[in-house]
Amino acid sequence: MSSGSRLWDWIAQRNPPRTGARREPPATTRTSPRTPGHNHRKPSAAKLSAESVAAFLVAQGLHVAVRVHRNRTIALGLRGRTGAWRLGIHAALLEDPALIEALPAWITAGGGGRHPVIIQALARLDARLIASLPPVEAEPLGRPWDLAKEFSRIHATWFGDLPPPEVGWSRDSHRSRQRHIRFGSYHRGPPARVLLHPRLNQPWVAKVFVEHVLYHELCHHRQACQPVRREKPHSQRFKQWEGTYPHYALAIAWERSHRHRLMRSETVSE
Ligand SMILES: [Zn+2]
Repeated sequence: MSSGSRLWDWIAQRNPPRTGARREPPATTRTSPRTPGHNHRKPSAAKLSAESVAAFLVAQGLHVAVRVHRNRTIALGLRGRTGAWRLGIHAALLEDPALIEALPAWITAGGGGRHPVIIQALARLDARLIASLPPVEAEPLGRPWDLAKEFSRIHATWFGDLPPPEVGWSRDSHRSRQRHIRFGSYHRGPPARVLLHPRLNQPWVAKVFVEHVLYHELCHHRQACQPVRREKPHSQRFKQWEGTYPHYALAIAWERSHRHRLMRSETVSE
């Protein structure tokens, strides 16, 4: 018997259809609830609550205080210790049976480790939340667009006290299913160079996002020009500089709402 049928049997037992609510016809599975393959009695996922998740976990021998929230940053979090776990779970995850079924193993492991089911469920939630946000609009690059010209404008506006680095396009690795892209990179040289990912070279990409990537790399240039011993690349000082980019919040919001399109788009080479 799979853990899935265990979960749904358990919920069905605890949450019989309410009187007055849309009642399902007497199901044959009621007399043989352990028969695999009878999925039509699955209760709607919306019936799951903090209490029902906690009770499901107790039935698995895990004592967990469950709190449902709508915090996107930490959609799923576990605190405490064996016997006194505290689970924080995003409300939308209660509609994801695969995730709920994976919780006992994940909690038993202390919430650590790589649990593919959990990782996939969180990725699905992320995609769903992004799709539900209003699209962030920003002026597109359009055509023609001149990287060298834009870069020297950004350099002159905010980094004019530093010698200008060279600028160019990096190579696209042509891996179609990349999950992460480094949009920009800084090479201390000499000569110092900033490289931009060719995927950003598309007319629909927001100017503000490209500008933000170049600004970020120029902050690395400032670090290289004004070195501090043993400084980490994204140090406090670096973050302060980066935060002075006037359209920082818009650039980040635009990236968030266009990340999926950026990942799947074809490279435009010139
Ligand atoms: Zn960086």
